[in-house]
Amino acid sequence: MTSTLPKAVAVIGAGTMGNGIAQVFATSGVTTHLIDIKPEFVERGVGAIHKSLAKFQEKGSLTAEQVAATKARLLAGTDMGALAQVDLCIEAVTENLDVKGKVFQAADATLPAHAVLASNTSSISITVLGAKTQRADRVIGMHFMNPVPLMKLVEVIRGNDTSDATCALVEGWSKALGKIPVLANDYPGFVANRILMPMINEAAFALMEGVATREAIDEIMKLGMNHPMGPLTLADFIGLDVCVSILDVLKDGLGDDKYRACPLLRRLVAAGHLGRKTKKGFYSY
Ligand code: NAD
Repeated sequence: MTSTLPKAVAVIGAGTMGNGIAQVFATSGVTTHLIDIKPEFVERGVGAIHKSLAKFQEKGSLTAEQVAATKARLLAGTDMGALAQVDLCIEAVTENLDVKGKVFQAADATLPAHAVLASNTSSISITVLGAKTQRADRVIGMHFMNPVPLMKLVEVIRGNDTSDATCALVEGWSKALGKIPVLANDYPGFVANRILMPMINEAAFALMEGVATREAIDEIMKLGMNHPMGPLTLADFIGLDVCVSILDVLKDGLGDDKYRACPLLRRLVAAGHLGRKTKKGFYSY
């Protein structure tokens, strides 16, 4: 049971993460429903998948037949009714508790009783999301990394009431997808962001205090720690607004001022310089 994939999945939210998650399931042979609120968002998500599949085909990692079969397995639209047919639903909507809470309630009402309801949240409590449903034992975190088709890790987050069976199922499914699941408990920021965000924040403080230039900070961390990119470059990639909101979750959830977001980070966000997505953050693009 644990080494096979679910027969059908639904991914709610066709943005950066949702379309990547849908792509890996569809490529692995799973009937995949990709759902968003507006047809244009759905189309944008499907367009991103088609573009990525074309790149995999160019590189020779997928054949033309595999790409065609993947596209055929991808069913995209705005109708949450599709959830009635799936074994696993992964929510990848905007990082906002109100939005996610409503999506969880709607999904819980439509999913079959046996289905697992997962969230790709970076920082929102899985226990809180589970409590919004009648299936807290089948609610879990599946935190994929960006870009999903290339990154191996799935941080699997166990909420207060997540069952052993659900954890085993999700770990098995992640492996069958070619990913490496690693289990964490439900505390603010889980593991990935609990450790990453303070590093990014400290890099912002170092820049603000004039310890070194942005280029020097990134180069030192890249060469010295063998990181693929420096923390300021990575922050621009993630989005400075996302970094600030995760730091706020850490500060509030852990009740410790050591997680306070650097004033320089907040200033860049206030100015609308959010990183790559606005073409300006710590660097210009
Ligand atoms: P995004 O803004 O690119 O996409 C979110 C999508 O959700 C949008 O297309 C939006 O229209 C849709 N949406 C909003 N409300 C909806 C609803 N009620 N029903 C259906 N669709 C709805 O965001 P993203 O970067 O893909 O992030 C999604 C989730 O993944 C967040 O929880 C985020 O914290 C998490 N995450 C992001 C990254 C990253 O690097 N971007 C990495 C790991 C996890």
